[in-house]
Amino acid sequence: MAAYLELYRSGKLRERVDEAVSLLESCSVCPRSCGVNRLAGDMGKCRTPREALVSSYGPHFGEEAPLVGRHGSGTIFFTNCNLRCLFCQNYSISQLGEGHEVSKEELADMMLSLQAKGCHNINLVSPTHVVPQILEALEVAVESGLHLPLVYNSGGYDSVETLRILDGIVDIYMPDMKYDNEETAKQLSGIENYPEINKAAIKEMYRQTGDLEVNEEGVAQRGLLVRHLVLPQGLAGTKGIVNFLSKEISIHTYVNIMDQYHPCYKASQIPGLGRRISSSEFREALSLAREAGLSRLDKIRPIGILRVRAE
Ligand code: SF4
Repeated sequence: MAAYLELYRSGKLRERVDEAVSLLESCSVCPRSCGVNRLAGDMGKCRTPREALVSSYGPHFGEEAPLVGRHGSGTIFFTNCNLRCLFCQNYSISQLGEGHEVSKEELADMMLSLQAKGCHNINLVSPTHVVPQILEALEVAVESGLHLPLVYNSGGYDSVETLRILDGIVDIYMPDMKYDNEETAKQLSGIENYPEINKAAIKEMYRQTGDLEVNEEGVAQRGLLVRHLVLPQGLAGTKGIVNFLSKEISIHTYVNIMDQYHPCYKASQIPGLGRRISSSEFREALSLAREAGLSRLDKIRPIGILRVRAE
């Protein structure tokens, strides 16, 4: 049973919706804290007004195996982002605004339609800047029978205060850990204090949901799943990230060390980012994770470098 059903029955989901929507008045939904009045239609760094924008939605079979199961993960791709990654692989959606505004009723219909298609979860892709809108839609969808677990699939630049509103609502957190170095984060994603904010967010996500739990069919029910994209020349700081997970979160953390980086968007303007990673760079990242004591490493997908089963 999805966690939010209990909050809905107790009437507390309504309070959480109001709390989240109130953050839009002087926007502090994410750590950028732009302070703009999104209720009045003003826009901050994420360029998103009062309503959320959606690029596409549908069953997705390319996500991690525990999310996909037999019937797919029900993804909803939100337009725009609170990050400005120069190498974003979905830049037409995250940076160029591909998508259209949706009302809470339309967003609720998307969730219900994914459930009707048999998906195992509702996978909210880039949800950070539209948490209030998601909760408004969730309330509408629950009234019409939504019961699937929510997956919060973010870039990991999330505020602890906003995450606390999601306590008891989100079942599965799937954040990125992009960088272990502040200057790299500033240069490549245009943000301040990414490592500090990211680590605090991961701790809060883990506090709420714990290690990833799967059912007898291997489908995720609850918990934390971390994604880490290996960048060329060690720019992602893999060693610091796997050591943090191992020492400060749990050695049972489910981690997807990803090899699929390829130069996109403005990547070729950045020294070192104009190429894919090598097989030795990827093997080294896996070794670092194992040396740190992490053993729940996602099955590596064959995307042109090597085929490795990391478990
Ligand atoms: S959600 Fe958007 S407007 Fe609000 S603080 Fe973050 S970037 Fe700024």
